[in-house]
Amino acid sequence: MDKGSFKDYKLSETIASALKGLDYEIPTDVQEKVIPLALEGSDLIVKAQTGSGKTAAFAVPICEMVEWLENKPQALVLTPTRELAVQVKEDFTNIGRFKRIKATAIYGRHPFSIEKTELKQKTHIVIGTPGRVLDHIEKGTLILSKISYLVIDEADRMLDMGFIEQVEAILKELPTERVTMLFSATMPEEIRSISSNYMRNQITIDISEDRITTATIEHALYRVDEEDKFDLLKDIAIIEQPDSCIIFCRTKDRVEMIYKRLSDLGYPCNRIHGGMEQDDRLKAMKRFKRGEFRYLVATDVAARGIDVENISMVINYDIPFEEENYVHRTGRTGRAGLKGKAITFVSSRESRYQHYIEKLIGFELPKLERPSKEEVSVQKPAFDAKINTEPPIKKMKSDQLNKGITKLRFNGGKNKKLRATNFVGVISNIAGVKAEDIGIITVQDSLTYVEILNGKGSLVLETMKTTLIGGKQLKVNKVTDKN
Ligand code: AMP
Repeated sequence: MDKGSFKDYKLSETIASALKGLDYEIPTDVQEKVIPLALEGSDLIVKAQTGSGKTAAFAVPICEMVEWLENKPQALVLTPTRELAVQVKEDFTNIGRFKRIKATAIYGRHPFSIEKTELKQKTHIVIGTPGRVLDHIEKGTLILSKISYLVIDEADRMLDMGFIEQVEAILKELPTERVTMLFSATMPEEIRSISSNYMRNQITIDISEDRITTATIEHALYRVDEEDKFDLLKDIAIIEQPDSCIIFCRTKDRVEMIYKRLSDLGYPCNRIHGGMEQDDRLKAMKRFKRGEFRYLVATDVAARGIDVENISMVINYDIPFEEENYVHRTGRTGRAGLKGKAITFVSSRESRYQHYIEKLIGFELPKLERPSKEEVSVQKPAFDAKINTEPPIKKMKSDQLNKGITKLRFNGGKNKKLRATNFVGVISNIAGVKAEDIGIITVQDSLTYVEILNGKGSLVLETMKTTLIGGKQLKVNKVTDKN
């Protein structure tokens, strides 16, 4: 069957060119089904896994449909984890880049006051975890009167994290005239009941192709005593020499322990678990995505939703106790048509969980023998050379899109009674600069950030050093980290 093209959806030029910049040419199955219906304003229940391209399936139509001129939030996206909220926000920002869509992520353990200031300004799309969203609703800092689109992402995950009451409390506060889209990997009864209570004439779309494929993921299992697991891990690392590997452990203490032992051995590694500061979690994820280190030791916080390109291997150092998590963990590899390996360690105490997993995935995990001492010693020099060499930094999908974008910081904001229109007025008056060259503007209390597009950053920077805004000369400089 002929695959469609994004051109079929008659998207505006700003959205189409962002998709081109991201190298999205052919819509994925879920996008092909969801985008046309969402553009027509249908309520949708979508059964789709992460990795299917579902974020863009809702982000493209929402970016297309929001009114740029409206200052109050028009779309609300609920996600179960903070990392996912940040990732979805970045996807919206990328897709909406040339329409100057402003997306804000709000989530637990993130400074409330920063979020409050952001929400006071023009915000088209809010992405948040349920608890923090409710907090803002209760404090009156998130205005819901203009919300016309609601997305509940990873809805089944929301249920098992016990968010259902919060989600329902949020749903009760939203305008009833709205489009609701619910995405979930499975469809338990509770989800059906939410949908019948809060959605209208909803259309169900099922894209649940089996993510446990032996075609893209090679599954294997090692029987190993608990005290031998670490030695086995080292041997496998030496034999496989993965470019990029996630090692899943059951608890944060075990993550810390494995991380410490691997770093002591000089492995390029880092870790992520729920006990870490949010900022450190996000930084670790970002560095892993860029390929700055090869081994990420993680609890299940990294199992869901997180999209990292080219993970070549997943190791279940501890078998997951919930069989569903086997699917999510191993789904981190073998994505986007690439091959991956999923290796699970099973101690005698863990064997019953193996049974549940095999029942769920419908096949037996092939058992492998431990690599021999000889095999390991043959590979050791190559392995040592690899871990002692800096890994190449991966290009992010958004790099191409962000080329030609400069972020400028001005040392004045609301304190000097400045508004976004002051900046647009002055900057678009510079010879050679048009209003379309100005991206997202964020006015804070004493600072303002302005994105300049199309390679005009230096021209604007130089000019603004000697040009007044609102009768004032502001200090201006370039921000190096665009994210
Ligand atoms: P998701 O299921 O939203 O986590 O997306 C999985 C991955 O597919 C992400 O890296 C997306 O950037 C990527 N992606 C989504 N849509 C497309 C597309 N149409 N073409 C190529 N890559 C895509």
